[in-house]
Parts: sequence; structure tokens; C-alpha cells
Amino acid sequence: MITTRSLERHFGKRVAVEDVSFEVGAGEIFGLLGPNGAGKTTILRMIAGLIAPTRGEAVVAGIPLARRTADAVRARIGLLTETPGLWDRLTVRENLRVHARLHQLVDPDAAVDEALERFDLQSRGDSLAAELSKGLKQRVALARALLHNPPVVLLDEPTSGLDPQSARTVRDLILELRTRGHAVIISTHNLDEAERVADRVGVLRRRFL
Ligand code: ATP
Repeated sequence: MITTRSLERHFGKRVAVEDVSFEVGAGEIFGLLGPNGAGKTTILRMIAGLIAPTRGEAVVAGIPLARRTADAVRARIGLLTETPGLWDRLTVRENLRVHARLHQLVDPDAAVDEALERFDLQSRGDSLAAELSKGLKQRVALARALLHNPPVVLLDEPTSGLDPQSARTVRDLILELRTRGHAVIISTHNLDEAERVADRVGVLRRRFL
């Protein structure tokens, strides 16, 4: 479902990602493990079609990554960024609805209702995003990332900064993705976290070991 070959990204003279190759299949959770600055976010942004690799290639959900395919790739990806990035002045329901419209879902209201139920957020649908705890915000962000049912799910440090109970809830939701057949990459700097959720782990220093 995801294949990268010798993926590389430079920012000026800085090499952020060097020679990264791996594969992730459907129903598999791949842990991208590395310290701060190892290039995890940059790898996810390349796979999501947000920035272009300097070298190397990637195939995502059967589509080779290129400028002209970036939109098609983005439609097949659910990306959870390091910060939830919700619109504070919109309600939970409105935040999800904007995303549903962006992805031109056939029945946005039904998709939003289903997501609220699946993520146990029904009672918070009318709350402003600004009013939510960090754990709840992360749950809404995860619901939003999965709203269009993407085959590929990219999660950047999904439990970082959450209390143990919220982290566990988010982790359980991630584990569920495996049974639903998504190909998942989870980035983390925490070995324990990688071991808890990932089927396989790639260790990033500059290269994979
Ligand atoms: P963290 O856990 O701290 O987010 P990371 O493993 O996700 O770290 P990246 O954010 O991918 O690491 O950064 C890898 C390297 O690339 C860092 O040295 C960073 O400073 C650099 N970098 C990332 N984005 C840019 C950018 N837009 N311009 C310049 N340098 C960048």
C-alpha cells in the first residue's frame, strides 16, 4: 500500500531525510522511530504529497508520487499532524463538516454522524473546538483524518502530550485501523509507544538500520 525507495529530502544544505526505503501493507501498522529532528515529519509530509522528495520515489495506494498525482494521493491519505489544527471558533461537528466538504463526500452529514459515534464524540458535537481538552481535540483530529475513509493513514506523534488515559483511547482507535485494513504509519520518538502499536518498526538515525 505504501512503498518508498531511497527517499531523500534536502532543505538547502541540510539533509533532513536520507535514503529511506520501506514498505507498509494493508492492515499493517509501521512505526517510524527516531529522535527529534530525525526526519519523521518530513517523511510523512513527502508521502502525503505535501512536499516533493529531492530524490527517490514513493508509491502510495498504487499511485506513484508526482506533482500531477498529488491531489489523487491526498484523497487516499488521512494525515494526523503533530498539532490537531482544528478551527477553534467552529464546533466539533462544523470542523468535521468542513473536512467532509473538502473531500466532496456524497453524504457529508451521514459521514460526520458516523464519525462522532465511532469516536464517542456525540455529546461534544456542538462544543466549540476551543473548549475541548487536549485528549478530546486529538480524538476529533483523528476522526477528521479518517472521515473520508482513506486506505493510507499517517499519524505524526499521535499520543504525544496526552495523559495516560487519553493516550490509551487514541492508541485503541489506532489499533482498530489494522482490523479495518488501513495501511498505517505512526511516527514516534518513544520506543515503548512504537512497540505497543506497531507491527514493524523502522529506526531512523540518518538511515534505517
Ligand atoms: P520532531 O520529532 O522534532 O518533529 P522529526 O523527526 O519529525 O522531528 P523533521 O521535523 O522531519 O524531524 O525535521 C528533520 C530535519 O529537517 C530537522 O533538522 C529540521 O530542522 C529540518 N527541516 C524540517 N522542515 C524544514 C523546513 N521547512 N526548512 C528547513 N529545514 C527543515
